[in-house]
Amino acid sequence: MSISPYSYEELARKNKEYLWNPFTQMKDYIADDPVIIARGEGIKLIDVQGKAYYDGFSSVWLNVHGHNVPELNQAIVDQLNQVAHSTLLGMANIPSILLAEQLVRIAPPGLTKVFYSDSGATAVEIAIKMAFQYWQNLGKTGKHSFITMKNAYHGDTIGAVSVGAIPLYHEVYRPLLFSPYTIPYPYPYRHEGEKSAADTTIACLEQLLEEKADEIAALIVEPVVQGASGMILMPDGCLQKMAELAKKYDVLLIADEVATGFGRTGKMFACEHEGIVPDIMTIAKGITGGYLPVAATMTTERVYQAFYADYEEQKTFFHGHSYTGNPLGCAVALANLRLMEQRRLVDEVAQKSEKLGEMLRPLAAFPHVGEVRQKGFMVGIELVRDKHTKESYHWNERIGVRVTKSARVRGLLTRPLGNVIVLIPPLVSTEDDLAAMVDILAASIREVTEG
Ligand SMILES: *Cc1c(COP(=O)(O)O)cnc(C)c1O
Repeated sequence: MSISPYSYEELARKNKEYLWNPFTQMKDYIADDPVIIARGEGIKLIDVQGKAYYDGFSSVWLNVHGHNVPELNQAIVDQLNQVAHSTLLGMANIPSILLAEQLVRIAPPGLTKVFYSDSGATAVEIAIKMAFQYWQNLGKTGKHSFITMKNAYHGDTIGAVSVGAIPLYHEVYRPLLFSPYTIPYPYPYRHEGEKSAADTTIACLEQLLEEKADEIAALIVEPVVQGASGMILMPDGCLQKMAELAKKYDVLLIADEVATGFGRTGKMFACEHEGIVPDIMTIAKGITGGYLPVAATMTTERVYQAFYADYEEQKTFFHGHSYTGNPLGCAVALANLRLMEQRRLVDEVAQKSEKLGEMLRPLAAFPHVGEVRQKGFMVGIELVRDKHTKESYHWNERIGVRVTKSARVRGLLTRPLGNVIVLIPPLVSTEDDLAAMVDILAASIREVTEG
């Protein structure tokens, strides 16, 4: 049986003629032979020519139980036979209510309200507007600025880009954006100076809050792992100190758990590594197991109560999207959480990630590997031209792209972050799967950097 009723050539031609792919220079894409996926099976994706690949980046950091999972498929079919969509504007549907209950149950204690949307960026957009309006509703109208962290990534809508700080992605839009304050994200591998990277971050934050807390609505942070900047790991204790400072200076803390949530780092949420509870938490990617676009912005009773008033007071949160609380998405998210619990998946990830660490250890000795960073099933391998001086490869060499192309030939899909090779396997990956994926990456790095 053919895997696709369309030939690869026809699909590739139509892709190049009609489709504009995201985060993709189409001139390169047009010149290339793109992967076109026809099917998924477990942790592998199969292209229209029948070649199978490990989904080594969980289809851009989403996947939990693998692809084509009977329990998740069934949850969608069951819901589909009831209703595909109905709105949450002034009314509700069954799965959105039940999922909200489950999210509150598993979230850090105190996050008791769930506001849905449909992507990480919209969850962040909502967090920003919610934090801003919180202070407006309390009459503290001067608190209208934000603090973000260097090289932060929070999504691609304009508000999310405003608190983004990756020059390559964000600089061109500067005239459209509001301007947050920026403090460094601790990056020990490339940190210079007397103070440690974490101490520098904390000192900058404290000084900024000391001077400007009266005008700051919120601090937004990627807790424990800064993903898109290259899988940068916060030293232990740093997040907790940041949370303490935010509290001391009465600034809301927004934890963007879009990448780190749902077991990815070996805890259900990365905030749990430091025992902190943010005022607002954004979640997306893993929430539906990588099936459908659902996101949420969770918050506390304190924030919720600032909006809860007589209608005439004009404190309503006027925000929503057409597909907010989509029943199919919420139904599969519920099935995802159920399956995670049945499989004790978060504990499994915590255990298997120690094995994964052992598998990765030899790579750190490669002549062009500067640092291997790992938290749970989030791995970044930073390639350097010179291991001793830590000199980077020039961006123009596209060393990361070349390594991932080599990995693709060997049967693994992933996407680099500049010179950082990413491994973010589906959470159900077994030790054998992980070993096979690490072997492919090791061979690909060797071929490109030493070959
Ligand atoms: C991916 C990501 C986002 C954006 O999510 P989308 O669903 O792609 O809009 C926001 N924040 C973080 C930390 C992310 O990793």
